Amino acid sequence: MKVLVTGGAGYIGSICAAELLAAGHEVVVIDNLYQGHRAAVPSGAAFVEGDLRDTDAIARLFDQHRDFDGIMHFASFTLVGESMQQPLKYLRDNLVAGANLLEHAVANGVRRFILSSTANLFDDPEKMPIEPDERIVPGSPYGESKYFLERMLYWFERIYGLKYACLRYFNAAGDTPDRGEHHEPEYHLIPIVMQVALGQREKLTIFGGDYPTKDGTCVRDYIHVLDLAQAHILALEALDRLGSRKYNLGNGNGFTNLEVVQTAQRVTGRSIPYEIGPRRPGDPAVLIASAEAIRHELGWQPRFPELEQIISSAWEWHSRHPNGYTE
Ligand code: UDP
Repeated sequence: MKVLVTGGAGYIGSICAAELLAAGHEVVVIDNLYQGHRAAVPSGAAFVEGDLRDTDAIARLFDQHRDFDGIMHFASFTLVGESMQQPLKYLRDNLVAGANLLEHAVANGVRRFILSSTANLFDDPEKMPIEPDERIVPGSPYGESKYFLERMLYWFERIYGLKYACLRYFNAAGDTPDRGEHHEPEYHLIPIVMQVALGQREKLTIFGGDYPTKDGTCVRDYIHVLDLAQAHILALEALDRLGSRKYNLGNGNGFTNLEVVQTAQRVTGRSIPYEIGPRRPGDPAVLIASAEAIRHELGWQPRFPELEQIISSAWEWHSRHPNGYTE
């Protein structure tokens, strides 16, 4: 298939682009390089620098590259904490970008769409692990923006017949030998822990030590980015057969933030000093996915389900590329 990957210079998008190419698909990447890195875009992909908030840029993209079989939409602002401080960056920009993309997608005859969605839809789950049909209570403007996009897709299917899959990922983590997680500034737990292990930061601040969990720190379900990429490809390939779908993606195991630190100490052999700070607004106490639906319907099988494997892969990339994509 010929696939447009928005945000394909970012962490998850670039790794999905590389895996799509390895699976024999053709890839065009659009990215504004706001958070992404040109060097992360695989050499086999065509690259267009452009911002989805700019309809002219999207029109140019569809003039240059035609006949997409599907779109994987990663380009987005993605920080829960930031969205609690700058809500419009999420409630306006993420929506405008998504709406512009969808407008041009249907105008250009695209029939398949994979949305990178989030566990932040489930701020107050009734059951744990969280099933895809759990009631939606967005935990932040970030989660709300993804929910709006899911709802746009619902209407675009009804009105235009666009088939879609919403993949709600829990905590994407881990790296590949060639590509890794590099944000500036960095806000995510595992890359920050790697920076502390490398001596680039003095210590980690754990946000909140008074959650109702076994050690008082938040519990998250980490999923290796390569397993996520596999899920995207399977979802795209199955859309015609199965129709639109919503899947939760995780390993079904939760780890506290302190357990992440302890595992990273073991894997890296380095000490990881930390302190307990205040809670970060917008963070639910526990997020664990039930990925039974995608396992059952698509035969998805994570290859790197263990936290040790995920952190080892992150350590390999971060210790080889201590400055990420910066030369
Ligand atoms: N976290 C933390 N200190 C940091 C960064 C993150 O304690 O410097 C915590 C955060 O509060 C959450 C977990 O680590 O409980 C995972 O956060 P991250 O930002 O990596 O992913 P998110 O859950 O927001 O998708």
